[in-house]
Amino acid sequence: MPYDFSKSDEENKAQADLETQHKEVQPRQELEEHKPATLQSLETCDRIDVDNLVKGAILWQKDEAPYAWLDSCQEFIEDKTRAGGWFGARVGHKGFVVVTNQRILFACKMGRLAKDYAVTYGIDLEDVMSVSHGRFGFNDKLVILERQGTHRDFIKPKIQSLIPVINTAISLCQEQVQKEKQKERIHIVVDFGSLKNVMDSGGIVMTTYNCPKCNGVLDIPQAGKVLFCSYCGAPVKPVDIFEKIKEFL
Ligand SMILES: [Zn+2]
Repeated sequence: MPYDFSKSDEENKAQADLETQHKEVQPRQELEEHKPATLQSLETCDRIDVDNLVKGAILWQKDEAPYAWLDSCQEFIEDKTRAGGWFGARVGHKGFVVVTNQRILFACKMGRLAKDYAVTYGIDLEDVMSVSHGRFGFNDKLVILERQGTHRDFIKPKIQSLIPVINTAISLCQEQVQKEKQKERIHIVVDFGSLKNVMDSGGIVMTTYNCPKCNGVLDIPQAGKVLFCSYCGAPVKPVDIFEKIKEFL
């Protein structure tokens, strides 16, 4: 913005300040381009977009899709052993933090002259205890607390914008796990083989079942979808047995 001679020094200065602020907001705007539209359902974006950015460094897992990414993040490493260190910490390579429906990843160029990106950090969402916002000087810090009690930190102005995305990704991931478990239960009830697996994994030893009609003692089969009582011919389905034992699982 050129100096506007129709305005006072103060007004010109205010305008310049405004533009500086606008520039500082840039990373945030950049993030929002890659941020899902709604945090309730988190829209995934194309892997190809991320692959172009990190030059194919990410080995995607099955059904993995990115939700959001942020450029120019730096690893933040606490380093208490170095007395001459920078407040007992140092800043590592610059790269992308990528949040997917399965993981949080960090991809960076290892050396100053390196052309290729490498994934130097990755954590499954199930292994994330919590994410929080910290500060380092004037910079913002994303703190990823890992299940085993350790933490990994990344810094960038406004990096905390990723926190709601990560939190939603974690709950969606948990919901998915719940759905898978429900599917497993539905599967159990149609098949004696699966019923056996579930009993084994639940530590339940049960080889016979009393016919609900004549109370005859029946051997539970290892496979198949239905068992007919050898005394009265009444059908017994895996679901009937499952209903009896599920409270012990
Ligand atoms: Zn019977």
